[in-house]
Amino acid sequence: MDYLLAVVDPRLTEQVYPTSWTEDYWPRQLLTLFTLTLLFAFVMYFSVAAVCYVLLYNRCSSLHPLFKPRQIVSEIRRTLSTMPFIVFATSILFLVEVRGYSRLHDGHFWRLWTLVEAATYVFFTDMAIYFLHRLLHTPRLYAHFHKPHHVWKVPTPFSGQATTAIDSVLLSSPYHIFVFLVPLNKILYLIMFSMINVWTIAIHSGGYNVPQYLHHHVMDSQHHDIHHRLTNYNYGQYFTLWDHIGGTYLGSSSGISRVITSSPPTSELCIRRKSGGEFKDYYETLRQEHEKKMSARQQDYERQMAQRQMDHEKEKLDRLEDSKKDSIGSHGKKMSARQQDYERKISQRQTDHEREKLDRREDSKKNSIGSRLQREFASDRMERLRGRYRRLHNIEIPAIIMESASMEMP
Ligand SMILES: [Zn+2]
Ligand SMILES: [Zn+2]
Repeated sequence: MDYLLAVVDPRLTEQVYPTSWTEDYWPRQLLTLFTLTLLFAFVMYFSVAAVCYVLLYNRCSSLHPLFKPRQIVSEIRRTLSTMPFIVFATSILFLVEVRGYSRLHDGHFWRLWTLVEAATYVFFTDMAIYFLHRLLHTPRLYAHFHKPHHVWKVPTPFSGQATTAIDSVLLSSPYHIFVFLVPLNKILYLIMFSMINVWTIAIHSGGYNVPQYLHHHVMDSQHHDIHHRLTNYNYGQYFTLWDHIGGTYLGSSSGISRVITSSPPTSELCIRRKSGGEFKDYYETLRQEHEKKMSARQQDYERQMAQRQMDHEKEKLDRLEDSKKDSIGSHGKKMSARQQDYERKISQRQTDHEREKLDRREDSKKNSIGSRLQREFASDRMERLRGRYRRLHNIEIPAIIMESASMEMP
């Protein structure tokens, strides 16, 4: 944006700004950026949407029962009412970038590295927008900020930017966040930013469809139409990668998308209208038939959903019951294990006690036997001493002395 500022700003100096406002004065830069961006957004919106309307949009889509009366006028009115706020927020981000706080650089544009930067930019913004878009579909955020974009069930090129200011600022924030994180060529940034606006309008045009072999990988109008009608699928911006990873992908050929997004044969209506046939009556009959079919489908869908809900509740209750039983069983098992442990300990203690008693009895028995043997041994010894003394001295030692001596012997 500083290239554009350098070209435009000097030409406005004398006519618009006071002389005291120098070229690098930030309010002057902000005002210039705001004017430039507003002009750019306005021209881009009308020119690209008009081209898409002429070249890509199937005008018979306006005969679809979900197409709102005067829808294109409402879309343009909403876009114009929010555009100044979105442009103001974007201009602030541009100002920060111009004043050198981003990682935008003046490096050579024609080199291989520019391709790497472009690929990284696309990958990052595609991923970030997928998650922000999913976030905007959470009930609270959806009701306040994103739902006005989904009132267009049959989008037209003019509904691409017809949303709330917060929704638009949030979904475009990755384009600006990236340049504060990763180096990016300034010219490449301007080109990418313009292309993103073209892409956003194109995927709302109904007729911007990639070849069938790419349909599974690249977002196109069919994917985005499904998103507008079913709301919970195809959140991506350029590729279907994150929808595949996040489980939110729904291709146009899948059964469910064909059932829910089905409409009266608009081509037939178109032919009738062009040939000047009784279009109104025919359309009214077709519309009634379609509504009948749709209400039957709706009822069927609601019945299925209620059944699923009931099954889910039942499953939950069963699971709860099972977990209760398990916990009771495990408690019982724990208690019986404790009981067994306790009984084992008690019996062990009894056995120990009995064994101790037996040991003690054994010991006392042994002691009594020992003392008796000791006594016998002592009397034997005395008798032998007494014999020897008698033999030596021929005198008998009185029994009382021997007894007292044997008492003293160990
Ligand atoms: Zn959209
Ligand atoms: Zn959405």
